[in-house]
Amino acid sequence: MNKKSREEIKLMRMAGNIVALVHQEMKRVIEPGISTLELDKIAYDIIKKNKAYPTFLGYNGFPNSICASVNEQVVHGIPSKDTILKEGDIVSIDVGATFRDLVGDSAWTYPVGKIAPEIENLLKVTEKALFAGIEQMIPDSPLENVSAAIEDVALNAKVGIVRQYGGHGVGHQMHEDPFLFNYRTNSTIIIKKNCAIAIEPMLNLGCDEVHTLADDWTVVTDDNKPSAHFEHTVVATEEGPLITTKLM
Ligand code: MG
Ligand code: MG
Repeated sequence: MNKKSREEIKLMRMAGNIVALVHQEMKRVIEPGISTLELDKIAYDIIKKNKAYPTFLGYNGFPNSICASVNEQVVHGIPSKDTILKEGDIVSIDVGATFRDLVGDSAWTYPVGKIAPEIENLLKVTEKALFAGIEQMIPDSPLENVSAAIEDVALNAKVGIVRQYGGHGVGHQMHEDPFLFNYRTNSTIIIKKNCAIAIEPMLNLGCDEVHTLADDWTVVTDDNKPSAHFEHTVVATEEGPLITTKLM
């Protein structure tokens, strides 16, 4: 778990601000009729205009700047001109920006037009789980507190918890130690002062289980029920949790 210097935290906030600008625009443009490839182009342009690099582009061979995962897709959906959003869909947009060698990583699930009440509730619950986790990003406290806070929100709402994926340390690399589970694991890891972690609950309307499609990227729920994904990059400062992936 790498502690970040004051300068590194400043740069992470600048990277995170660019990620937040992308999300601000996603919220504005997502509507029935737009393709996920169009969203990818918009994100790419914002990141480049702000002199950053889209962290996902080329990462382990990933072909685009955002992951766009629709409905039963959990994470790592590949943008496509053939994936046209329609009324009642949800789309999870995950985006990273690297600015002067530091990374911001944040995901949000957006409704497309009007969505069913139970899906709207899934979005609310997953966002709530994210912020419950963020509150526990306190220096010298157990990382397990973050996992437990997320798990408790999910259990109370009786939604599925994705087990194979989770949060992670973040900084000069998108994925650094430690891995952060979205449920209790009896971890003994202690949160270090000024460490940065991407907290990212992925919760499902149905079962916990997920699998990867034949494209080797797209992760979907086994029961084809919708999944939501909310993520922020957070630094555990002495003054409390600092979300870097929000507008400065
Ligand atoms: Mg992400
Ligand atoms: Mg992440």
